[in-house]
Amino acid sequence: ITLTNLSRVFRTQDLETTALSHINLTVKSGEFVAIMGPSGCGKSTLLSILGMLDSPTSGSFEFEGADISSYNEVKLAGLRKSSIGFVFQSFNLIDELSVFQNVELPLHYHKISKAERKQRVEAILKRIGIDHRGDHLPQQLSGGQQQRVAVARALVSNPKLILADEPTGNLDSKNGDEVMAMLRELNKDGTTVIMVTHDEKEGKYADRIVRLLDGQVMVDKANQTAVPSD
Ligand code: ADP
Ligand code: ADP
Repeated sequence: ITLTNLSRVFRTQDLETTALSHINLTVKSGEFVAIMGPSGCGKSTLLSILGMLDSPTSGSFEFEGADISSYNEVKLAGLRKSSIGFVFQSFNLIDELSVFQNVELPLHYHKISKAERKQRVEAILKRIGIDHRGDHLPQQLSGGQQQRVAVARALVSNPKLILADEPTGNLDSKNGDEVMAMLRELNKDGTTVIMVTHDEKEGKYADRIVRLLDGQVMVDKANQTAVPSD
């Protein structure tokens, strides 16, 4: 990912807010980056742009060598579905669907046979240690388990990139640590992770910390004290 001189300005009536100002940022395949900074500094806006849900007002966004700033919504949606898994603070699981069905959901976009869907969902539930919970509804699980299901759903289509928005924001520290350890594990297996957080504890898991202030990159440096993956 290469963002060059990227800005995002919101215009509402006669009010202008510069959410991101001249951002230059490169993320290589396999990195684990935390984007940090106080409320209002532009973290969510940046994550939305990286997630191809919003577009910059100016500047360029290169994804795997292609400048996607000019892509239309249809092309962006296609790229989003094939390349990116999202993890949210609020889990965003569908209450009426079982754990299995929630995790299976992204595979419906990918024209994958029923048998293969079953095999992939079962494998991933096993990997995250909740294969005995496939038939449960999300509400029947703890917050930590729900977030693990959400991570499984983000992963089931084998995205190259996971975008996580305050992934442990709704979890106690034990469950939070488990979810972070899981993201770290996935990263070790090659998935690029970009995570937004205002929580220094979450930031500890990343190999690199990018700090925003007022829409600009203030600090971008390797995290020497990253929590090791074991
Ligand atoms: P953070 O995620 O770090 O809290 P945001 O990216 O949400 O920051 O917001 C950055 C700035 O952009 C803030 O001043 C915010 O009010 C403004 N902003 C974000 N989204 C919009 C929007 N849709 N319309 C107008 N202003 C917005
Ligand atoms: P569809 O075209 O089927 O309605 P979308 O384009 O809305 O699907 O969503 C594609 C992907 O983007 C999904 O994985 C979804 O989880 C994610 N997504 C959609 N809206 C948002 C959002 N506001 N914030 C973060 N991720 C989103």
